[in-house]
Amino acid sequence: MNRPILATIHTEAFRHNLSRVRELAPESKIWSVVKAKAYGHNLEAALKGLESTDGFALLDIVDAQWLRDHGWGGRILLLEGLFSREELELASQLKCDLVIHSQKQVEWLESYQNHSGHPISIFLKLNSGMNRLGFQPDQYRTAFHRLHASGYHMHHMTHFANADQVDRSPSVGLQLECFDKATEGLDAPSSLANSAVILWHRNALGDWVRPGIMLYGVSPTGVHADIVRSELQAVMQLRSEIIDIQELKKGYHVGYGGRYQAPEDMRIGVVACGYADGYPRHAEDGTPVWLDAGDEQGDGIICPIVGQVSMDMLTVDLRAAPNAKIGSVVELWGSEVPVDDVAQMSGTIGYELICALAPRVPVVIK
Ligand SMILES: *Cc1c(COP(=O)(O)O)cnc(C)c1O
Repeated sequence: MNRPILATIHTEAFRHNLSRVRELAPESKIWSVVKAKAYGHNLEAALKGLESTDGFALLDIVDAQWLRDHGWGGRILLLEGLFSREELELASQLKCDLVIHSQKQVEWLESYQNHSGHPISIFLKLNSGMNRLGFQPDQYRTAFHRLHASGYHMHHMTHFANADQVDRSPSVGLQLECFDKATEGLDAPSSLANSAVILWHRNALGDWVRPGIMLYGVSPTGVHADIVRSELQAVMQLRSEIIDIQELKKGYHVGYGGRYQAPEDMRIGVVACGYADGYPRHAEDGTPVWLDAGDEQGDGIICPIVGQVSMDMLTVDLRAAPNAKIGSVVELWGSEVPVDDVAQMSGTIGYELICALAPRVPVVIK
């Protein structure tokens, strides 16, 4: 038998989460953000589950090519535009829309002879306060006019730094004010909103929303409680099994560094999942896993991790699960254990864990 670890990607949950975006932003078109191989869920699953989206937004032109090769005829947005002048020809052939954020990119576009017969759509990125990518407000108009004069289809775009938090600077309101001022009188559709904006700032949606994390059923804030009312569903479920059980005597230690010491005689389950699978090594004692309890009702029990996560295994306290045995199914994250909770116990956010699912973990698309 193979090692029992498995990631299941639930395309039905993708469909549900996309419909939640539609309900929250009924006037907007949707760029489903599938960068980083669909946040670790893989593009094939995203294409299957999100096929009713208006477009896919991603970074790597290779992924745009993949979508075209697999039948996607809708729109594709390259979120960081072009990394070189040479990419422009392929981007044009693949009918990609481009985010344009730098002077260099404007120059490439101005000197480009487009023979494809397909005008390129530009999402011109304003730096409204995040100070990562985009034109400063005083340079934005010039860039807009230059590209418009060269025959490109223009859109406005910006990105918010703090839509998932209050009392952080710059606020959504401040960035929105900057956006309104910089784009005043320049008639074009807009794209403003990531997941946190769609969930919590619906005064700032724009014509094209750009949800990423919420499509995967994970919280933009890193706290699962924040999305409970939004009724999103986990798309990725990471499961494995108990492959061995240790009977500890009171006072015995578990694993590398002996971080956990048994407070009484107890059973420990050894689960086939470690940091080489993408499970965070920094998970603290108490990080929850779900365990098939082995009872008649088919219920599960939440058990805490005890001891340091190692490369291929982790260890759980089985005191709450007297019927657990070798072969019992364990969910590391998914619909029973939000990946947000695992992330929180590991000093990170769900985004990082789902993107870092290791290539060695087999994936099934359901
Ligand atoms: C990644 C990304 C998004 C999606 O952000 P989420 O927080 O995952 O919703 C939207 N816009 C841009 C420009 C991005 O890079």
